[in-house]
Amino acid sequence: MQIYGFFLKTQYLCDNMTIEELLAYDREHVWHPYTSMTDPLRVYPVARAAGVYIELADGRRLIDGMSSWWSAVHGYNHPALNAAAHAQIDRMAHVMFGGLTHHPAVELAQRLVGLTGLPHVFYSDSGSVAVEVAVKMALQYMQATGHTRRTKLATVAGGYHGDTWHAMSVCDPVGGMHALYAGRLPVQFFAPRPGVPFGGEWTEADFEPMRALVAAHGDEIAAVIIEPVVQGAGGMWFYHPEYLRRLRTLCDEHGILLIADEIATGFWRTGRAFACEWAYITPDIMCVGKALSGGYLSFAATLTSERVADGISSAAPHVFMHGPTFMGNPLACAVACASLELLAAPELPARIAQIESMLRQLLAPAADFAGVADVRVFGAIGVIEMREPVDVGRFQERCVEAGVWIRPFGRLVYIMPPYIITDDELRTLCTAMVQLVGET
Ligand SMILES: *Cc1c(COP(=O)(O)O)cnc(C)c1O
Repeated sequence: MQIYGFFLKTQYLCDNMTIEELLAYDREHVWHPYTSMTDPLRVYPVARAAGVYIELADGRRLIDGMSSWWSAVHGYNHPALNAAAHAQIDRMAHVMFGGLTHHPAVELAQRLVGLTGLPHVFYSDSGSVAVEVAVKMALQYMQATGHTRRTKLATVAGGYHGDTWHAMSVCDPVGGMHALYAGRLPVQFFAPRPGVPFGGEWTEADFEPMRALVAAHGDEIAAVIIEPVVQGAGGMWFYHPEYLRRLRTLCDEHGILLIADEIATGFWRTGRAFACEWAYITPDIMCVGKALSGGYLSFAATLTSERVADGISSAAPHVFMHGPTFMGNPLACAVACASLELLAAPELPARIAQIESMLRQLLAPAADFAGVADVRVFGAIGVIEMREPVDVGRFQERCVEAGVWIRPFGRLVYIMPPYIITDDELRTLCTAMVQLVGET
């Protein structure tokens, strides 16, 4: 730390920078997600965003296909969410949650409990932390109820649960960061990825490896964690809900807790409020995030059943040992309440169904391209899986030229647009996506 940093003159601050200078400073000093600091991929400066459009500093407007990583489901700059944020910030942006509470946190709890049927809510700052909290809850539950041998987690391959330590340990063993941190990450149990696709014909054989895993190691396992029906960042894969139903039963038979990570799938992305609803199951612990705060603020929650909450509270220290500084942030809670109010619109499920049928129709032509391995759609999620990894930098340049915003990863080019996208905008987005994939 330079002690003369205090004397930083305003001419160095970015208000006075040209866009080129700003980008140069960004490139030199600011880390972006999953990028090198010495050779980062190009980034695009954004001036503002409204509705389904992201406006770049040079005035170009892009139709957003990403909802800022599943979060901005109402689009940007939404009047109702803005109003909720303004009203709350004039009361208080934040107060500590230790020993204090407030209307936004209680109202949000009412809404989440009503939606999920899970009666206890733990707020945190991000999805990854919500997963850490879920894991800590499962482990503390087992400790408190005398199951001290149950210290491990089980999951399926192809998952993604976040970038913090325990979350990382249950991400896909090959595609995740296990190799990078080999010997340091906790070792967990992995069954193969569920193989039968959503809408495919269920075969009992698909569940056998998980059944065998639990038969062999059930008494060491505290919880199974899984993304219900849709595996997101681990491969954009949609699997048969019967798998989840079998898993619920198996966990019950073996005294294992089931953690559903609904951070990507929650809040109607799949056409139902939560993806667990496709299997008619309730998990013991559920993580929500991303769309929870409508893409406005980093915010997440972990919900639990009565049994888990009671178990944790039943033995010394009789408390759950977690409490982030910004827990229950009033601003985030207020925006989340406004977001859930919008999501309660009776016409929403029909709108998602309409987006789904348009995605099916508009992305189908890509299946004919030699470079395309698979095209799949579920709810408001459209995926084109390529045979070879996509050159992200080059692909994004062409997206921006075409007036759309899509960020592929690996062999996957996918979109999950804001729910407020119009039919025309969706047509433009999908047409550009198919065309760009065709040129790849
Ligand atoms: C994004 C994601 C997370 C992590 O959430 P962050 O807010 O990025 O920490 C965890 N689980 C799933 C399923 C996700 O999609």
